[in-house]
This record gives sequence, structure tokens and C-alpha cells, in this order.
Amino acid sequence: MAENETRPTNFIRNIIDKDLAEGKHPSTHTRFPPEPNGYLHIGHAKSICLNFGLAQDYQGKCNLRFDDTNPEKEDIDYVHSIQEDVKWLGFEWDGEVCYSSNYFDQLYLYAVELIKAGKAYVCFLNAEQTREYRGTLKEPGKNSPTRDTSIEENLALFEKMKNGEMQEGECCLRAKVDMTSSFMCMRDPILYRIRFVHHHQTADKWCIYPMYDFTHCISDAIEGITHSLCTLEFQDNRRIYDWILDNISLEVRPHQYEFSRLNLEYTVMSKRKLNDLVTQKHVNGWDDPRMPTIAGLRRRGYTAAALREFCLRIGVTKMENMIEMGMLEACIRDDLNANSARAMAVLDPIKVIIENYPEGQVEELMVSNHPQDESFGKRMVPFTREILIEAEDFRESGNKKYKRLVIDKSVRLRGAYVITAKRFKQDEKGNVTTVYCTYDPNTLGKNPEDGTKPKGVIHWVSASEGKPATVNMYDRLFTVPNPAAEDDFTQVLNAESLIEMKSAVVEPSLAELDAGKAVQFERLGYFCPDLSSTPDDLVFNRTVTLRDTWDHA
Ligand code: ATP
Ligand code: MG
Repeated sequence: MAENETRPTNFIRNIIDKDLAEGKHPSTHTRFPPEPNGYLHIGHAKSICLNFGLAQDYQGKCNLRFDDTNPEKEDIDYVHSIQEDVKWLGFEWDGEVCYSSNYFDQLYLYAVELIKAGKAYVCFLNAEQTREYRGTLKEPGKNSPTRDTSIEENLALFEKMKNGEMQEGECCLRAKVDMTSSFMCMRDPILYRIRFVHHHQTADKWCIYPMYDFTHCISDAIEGITHSLCTLEFQDNRRIYDWILDNISLEVRPHQYEFSRLNLEYTVMSKRKLNDLVTQKHVNGWDDPRMPTIAGLRRRGYTAAALREFCLRIGVTKMENMIEMGMLEACIRDDLNANSARAMAVLDPIKVIIENYPEGQVEELMVSNHPQDESFGKRMVPFTREILIEAEDFRESGNKKYKRLVIDKSVRLRGAYVITAKRFKQDEKGNVTTVYCTYDPNTLGKNPEDGTKPKGVIHWVSASEGKPATVNMYDRLFTVPNPAAEDDFTQVLNAESLIEMKSAVVEPSLAELDAGKAVQFERLGYFCPDLSSTPDDLVFNRTVTLRDTWDHA
């Protein structure tokens, strides 16, 4: 984390300040608790920046803990990608990676403790009956028929569950709290259910798995977490969090605090929906550059610093919010404008032949890599008789507003000479294929001597020295700001979220760039080599346009 990234205060920092001042804890200990059932998205980045950021600022600790109690939905690949993403964002967890499954033995014993205290029981209602007995927000629930089974019998039944002597779905362990509570989560929540599935950490040791509400608070306590930060949908669950810890023999008392989730316009954020996009092949995998995943954003050319800056700018509150995509884009634009080199690429080329330039000559022009920052140095850009320019940068005749190449008018080639268009050739469809020009050899780094300073500057690439490339023009994945509000969010996918420019040509220096490292293609936007790019088959991704071109109407 760069030193100039100072964090504004927020309600959670105020709570921590107070707790530390009152000596409630000697220091802070937070955790980031992802479920390894998908790739991390930018919403998780908010939680990561908050939890790890607090640990940095207060010289406390932050654990990375996999909340791995749903083995059928989890995968070891996700365990790996999540670690990679947290590190890439610039954070380090304290000690070893933690897993809730590390505590399965202890969790089992705490469940036995609850049974022995008469506070948990084995319930035989099926799923439908359980729902019926639970009641509604307006009506209280009814007690399960086995709620008052003796402690001895419950202990024996729970042991049978653990030993695999019961069927999946036949019974479960529930907390004995209050079936009339106005908080649904307090109506005897399920603590353990039977699942005969292999677990990526504990293999086949267990066939009963603890539920989130039981596991999370105990894991926090075992790890000595002081401030357990989660999103607002867990607000009601704080009651069960506290109830469990109040009723078992663990001394340590973590506290849960809730903040609002990040929602971002023009995308979806739930892992289930992101998973649908992947499995239904609307995108090319979790790290598709259109995905709001950390891996997708990285592949798109986003930097960790820009994502951290975004998390700073959005802040941490309890208010529901929907953040404009423009805000995220502004963060990466600000970063890349200052920190990325410039280069030239032509996405939709037409040929320019400079008739008074020697055939076969390759001139090595030294061009600045950054207009404001000399520390970026210079690079060699080869200039030749035949060059390529953008098709839209030439017109037979133009008006005053069109400051590019026009017949009998001059334009400057970025970093090179002033050229004048003389005539052009079209194909049978009327598309311009070649423009014939002359150049003024005395205009390298200076204006023409006759005082005719050209109005415009255009970018170009040598036709013989440039490298062919495919350029992926990415745009927003959805056509509406809140796709999650649609009946079927896959109906509002943006059909033009990816346009492949297959005949692009880039200057030779771009062939050696690392994947994900963004540069500014002069006048076009910011682009980076895709993960799949090789020197013989260059592929670039558009990270973001130069300016906000989206219509906000
Ligand atoms: P999703 O709804 O996307 O599946 P989740 O909450 O189930 O997300 P977890 O892996 O359980 O995903 O999340 C790990 C942590 O990240 C949790 O503390 C969760 O509150 C937080 N988190 C998840 N989504 C967001 C978000 N959009 N904004 C802020 N924090 C989030
Ligand atoms: Mg979750």
C-alpha cells in the first residue's frame, strides 16, 4: 500500500477507536471470510480493503479464512484463486490461511455442549414441514415434535448423525431458541445437517456439516477476532451470532458489525449470477475481462492501486447504494493517465503511401513515452514510406471541425512529420484503401517553414514494421443499470460488450509488453496485452476509453 493512500474515517473506525480507548481490546483483529464457491468480485474488494486496511492502519491483524461449510458448492480452484486475488490487491494475511473446516472437531464439541445444556435437539421434520412449522413474519412458528426429546437421546442421535447412521435429509440438529421470535433466524435455526459429500480440506472425515450461523461466530472466537465485519443482510443474524456465543463455554467475545454491500451499475455481483454467466457461456470464464471479478478486472488492465482507490472513494457506511460505473472507470483512468506509457496502434487501418519518401528506408524516430513525465523515457518508432492510419482519420473533404487528413490539406503524424494528402484510391465498394501523400522532411519536431501549421495530429504505425494484432473492444456487460432487478438478467446482456478488431496493427515496441500491463494507445484509450497474447499472436484488451463516452441521459 502506497503511503499516500490515506483512509478517511468511517463508523467502523469510530467503533474501533472507542474500543481501543476504553481498553476493550489491546489491539484489533479482523478477518476476511470468503466462501470458496466462486471467484472474488469487486464487492469482495470492498470487504478486503476494509478488513485488511484496518489491520494495517491499527497495526492489528487480519486473517484470511475460508468459510468452507458447503463442500458440494466449493472447489479447491476457488481456494487458490481467492488467495491469488487477495495478494494481488496488495494485502497479506496474518499467519497461515485459516479454514472453518480446521475447527470441525471443536464445532462438534460445542454442539454437544449445547445439547448437554438442553439448548439443541435433533429434529426429524422434512424440509417442507420445517418451513411450515417456522411460521411467517406475521405468524409465530410451532415447536418441532422432537423439541423436548431428552438430552441423552439427543446426544445419541447426534452421534448417530456423525457416524453416518442416518440418511441425508432424515434429520438435523437445531438450536432451541424461540419459535415465536420476531426474528426468523431465531426460530430454532439449523446447526448441522447431513451431507455425504467429499470435502476439499477434510476429505471424507465428516458427513455432517455445520451451518454458517453456527460456524462463523465460533470461528471468529477461536481466532480471537475482535471486530467481525459483514454486510447488512446479516444484521438479523447478529442475534444468533450472539446467542451461540452466550451459550457455549468460549471466553473470547468477538462482535459483529454490518456495513452496506457494494452494488455497481451495469453489472451483477452475486456469485450465483456470475456463475450462471460462466456456465451458460455468456462470458469466457470467471476471468473474462467483462466480469466484475478481480481476475477479470486484472485481465482487463485494472491495477490493484485503482481498485484500492475505488474502495476508498466509495467509503464504508450502512446506506444501501448503487455506484456508477463511471466512478470505477475514473479511478483506472486517473491511475493510467499518470502511470502508463503511450504507444501507437491502428485499429481499423487504411494505407498511406508517402510518395516522396525513399523506398526501403526505415528511419528510427525517438518518441517520448509520456507527454508530462520524462522519467518514462523514449522509445524507437520506425518510420517508413508506407504507413497505416485509422480509416476514420481520412476524408476526401472535411469541414472546419474535422482536423485530420483531407485532400490538399496537411496533418502531423504523432512524433513524426507533417504530411499532405494528394489523392486516394477506393475499392469497388467505395471504401478508401490507400491515400497518397507527400511529406515535408523539415518538420520533424518543428512546424513547416512556410508557416502552415497543421491543425491536427493523428496516430500511425509503419506498414512494414508494425505487428498485426487482435484488439478486444470491451464495453459494459449489460444494457441497463440494474440487471439484477430484471426477471431474467441474461435478457439484458449487451450484445456489443465485446467487439473484436481483427486487423489492428501495433507499433513494434508493444510486442514485448507483459500481460495485464496497460498502455495508452494514443487517441484511442488504454489497452493491455491479454493473458493469451504471444509475440506471434498479439491480443490486446481495451481497459477503458480515454474519456467517459457513456450517455448519462
Ligand atoms: P455473493 O452474494 O456475491 O455470493 P457472499 O457474501 O456470499 O457474496 P462470501 O464469499 O461469503 O460471498 O463473502 C466474503 C465476504 O465478502 C463477506 O464478509 C461478505 O459480506 C463480503 N462481501 C460479499 N459481497 C460483497 C459486496 N458486494 N460488497 C461488500 N462486501 C461484500
Ligand atoms: Mg456468503
